[in-house]
Amino acid sequence: MQTRIHPLEASAAGTPHAITSLHFGPGSGSAGGRRALLQCSLHADEIPPLLVGWHLRQRLLALEAAGQLEGEVVLLPACNPIGLAQQVWGRLQGRFDLASGQNFNRHYPALAEGAASRFEADGGRLSPDLQTNALALRKALQAELAALPAAGLLQQLRHTLMRLALDADIVLDLHCDNEAVLHVYATPEHQPTAVQLAHCLGAPLLLLATESGDGPFDEAQSGIWPQLRARLGAGVPLAGFAATVELRGEIEVDHALAAADAHGLLRFLQQQGFVRELDPPEHNDSALPASASLASFAAVECTVRPLAGCLHLLAPFSGVLVWRLALGQWVRAGQPLADLVCPVSGRCETLPSPTDGLFFARELQRWARAGQSVAKVAGQEARRSGKLLSA
Ligand SMILES: [Zn+2]
Repeated sequence: MQTRIHPLEASAAGTPHAITSLHFGPGSGSAGGRRALLQCSLHADEIPPLLVGWHLRQRLLALEAAGQLEGEVVLLPACNPIGLAQQVWGRLQGRFDLASGQNFNRHYPALAEGAASRFEADGGRLSPDLQTNALALRKALQAELAALPAAGLLQQLRHTLMRLALDADIVLDLHCDNEAVLHVYATPEHQPTAVQLAHCLGAPLLLLATESGDGPFDEAQSGIWPQLRARLGAGVPLAGFAATVELRGEIEVDHALAAADAHGLLRFLQQQGFVRELDPPEHNDSALPASASLASFAAVECTVRPLAGCLHLLAPFSGVLVWRLALGQWVRAGQPLADLVCPVSGRCETLPSPTDGLFFARELQRWARAGQSVAKVAGQEARRSGKLLSA
């Protein structure tokens, strides 16, 4: 394993920040080899990925020592040092950058158009060899990124993460939701690979969108190759797969779960040719909830739904949220999901599911403000448009 430190500019207060990347496998340091990259907790207050990353680190060290890694696997064990340092009133606040108010997982640059122009301006021609084309286009993408201004810590964080991921064939951005079942976000062009990932993780839900709005990290990566292909032609390979993995809810921080999730990620890397032989993880399977036991992984059926069909349950007034149904259940439109209780007026209203679908995520805080989205149900029909992600 090689450890590399990527310093960001010192902040106004003089506090240095740096991103640490851990590089495993024979490809470490060599140019042109295959790379998989996994980054933990871009939203720095989403803790489950930090523990999954720790379990992955042990497993990758052992696999490397046993000579079982085929390509380079890069792990960013805590990829957002800015967010991880943000304490407000005694609580970690890692979703938004305190200095600018911006979401850490938005506004990643769209590089395809500029890189294609650069490639053509440099006299680039697509060859019959897809791998050669991928290498040449990655150079153009890196040049395009390097030419963009990166003033300030937040932009430097975004650029550093993009730079590390641009050369990767597989990019997995590990997050969690408030309270949720394990689910995956990806783009329709990569559906077969995304289904494979969901199967390896035992995730019951895969949400697909070409453009969910405001440039989240995974789409800034996964959109590149389809866009380059549309612009330059069929000689462009679909060279980069990127997905966001939501590792359940924010308080589901548990060794057995994290070990199982790390194993699921390694099984995916194995199917993608990065790992040769994989032993089962060393943990007590009986400690896992039934939905996460390794034996049940094969039994989990992954449902693929459009992100635009994922409907939000809104609180009509402010009040106490009392859930009436456990997460992970299939519901019908109109089926009661929660009661909302106003302690002052005494009003109590039952909140019905907005659609038929999987009740897969809900708010952790039990006080809802008027108009707030408090739950998500993944329906079949794409009924939303515009920006599809929450703030
Ligand atoms: Zn997140």
